[in-house]
This record gives sequence, C-alpha cells and structure tokens, in this order.
Amino acid sequence: MATNKSKSQSSLALHKVIMVGSGGVGKSALTLQFMYDEFVEDYEPTKADSYRKKVVLDGEEVQIDILDTAGQEDYAAIRDNYFRSGEGFLLVFSITEHESFTATAEFREQILRVKAEEDKIPLLVVGNKSDLEERRQVPIEEARSKAEEWGVQYVETSAKTRANVFFDLMREIRAKKMSENKDKNGKKSSKNKKSFKERCCLL
Ligand code: GDP
Ligand code: MG
Repeated sequence: MATNKSKSQSSLALHKVIMVGSGGVGKSALTLQFMYDEFVEDYEPTKADSYRKKVVLDGEEVQIDILDTAGQEDYAAIRDNYFRSGEGFLLVFSITEHESFTATAEFREQILRVKAEEDKIPLLVVGNKSDLEERRQVPIEEARSKAEEWGVQYVETSAKTRANVFFDLMREIRAKKMSENKDKNGKKSSKNKKSFKERCCLL
C-alpha cells in the first residue's frame, strides 16, 4: 500500500514513540485504541510490535510510529536499541498497581542512560486504567509530584474510554525537533552530535 503514496508520505514529519512500562499496564491496549479506535481486551504478543499511522496534529498531517514493547526489554541490548530509536516515550503504569508505578523510575533511568547525549527527552508519565478508580493504588498526588520532580507531564488516561495521550507527546517531540533545527541553522555545517556544552559554545 505504501508504494503509491510513498512520495507524499515520506515528506511528512515522522514522530517515533516508544511505549514503556511493566507488563499488564495497558501499553498494547493504549496503542491499539489509538490505532484502531478499539479497546482490545486480550492482546499479548511475545515480541515488540510497531505501528504507523497518519494523523493530523494541530492542523498538520504527520505520521506517528509507535513501538509497543513487550517484555524482551529484559535483554538490555534489545531494550537499549528500542530506546535509542525513540524520539519520545510514554512511560506507562497502571493506577491500580503501585508496583508498576515504582517501576517507572527504573525505566526512566534506562531511557536517560541510552539518550545521555540529548538534553530534553520528550516523555510523558501516563497513569493508565483511570476508569478503575475504585481500585486505585497510586494517589494522583504521588504520581504528579514524581513527574514534577522529573520535569515532565503527568497524565491519567484509560485505554478503555479512549482518552488520548499520543497527541500530547507528539507536540513535545515536534517542539524538540523545531528547537534542534534552529540550533542546526544557527550552526549550519555538520550533523554530528556535539555535547550540549559544545553546542552552547558555538551559539
Ligand atoms: P501491556 O502488557 O502493558 O501491553 O498491557 P495490555 O495492553 O496487554 O493490558 C493488560 C490488561 O489490562 C488487558 O486485559 C487489558 O484489557 C487491560 N487494560 C488495559 N488498559 C486498560 C484500561 O485503561 N482500563 C481497563 N479497565 N483495563 C485495561
Ligand atoms: Mg503488550
């Protein structure tokens, strides 16, 4: 299907999103809800799946690429490759499982390690399953203050009721790319990655 459209599609901005979080928190459900407008109750692939969709982001047609990770990330090398390929991250936990919230800190560390040379990584902390309020184990304040400490947004959502977090993340990715482009234009010459400090000196 891509062949006819490949030309126009390839000129669209492409934003690469990685779903990260413990098993069972709803990474696949959120992804599938976004892709197909459907709540999928049982979807348990053994490996990561990637999806691409054309969407309109604030009036601009863009493509989003979603990598839905699925546990292989236990192998550090595989995980790091996934994380390296991402431009933005949805760090997902379930508000009904406190352990999954605690786990977000470790996932975040892994992302930061892999992306060490980048200054601000587009990342949203996502408390999923907000429709299960009666089973809440993670107080909203606790999640909010953690996100604040990390300097990122906290959003609650539900794959079941279709709240949507992907657009928020794409806005952050887009903003980062725009500021990087500005940097590049100011500097013109090379595309090699200089450290933040070096870039500052060149400006
Ligand atoms: P993953 O391992 O992170 O990909 O989690 P899944 O997407 O496979 O979801 C695990 C289970 O939680 C499945 O049975 C889903 O149907 C369910 N689930 C996921 N998101 C939600 C949600 O927002 N609300 C409710 N009630 N159930 C959800
Ligand atoms: Mg999954």
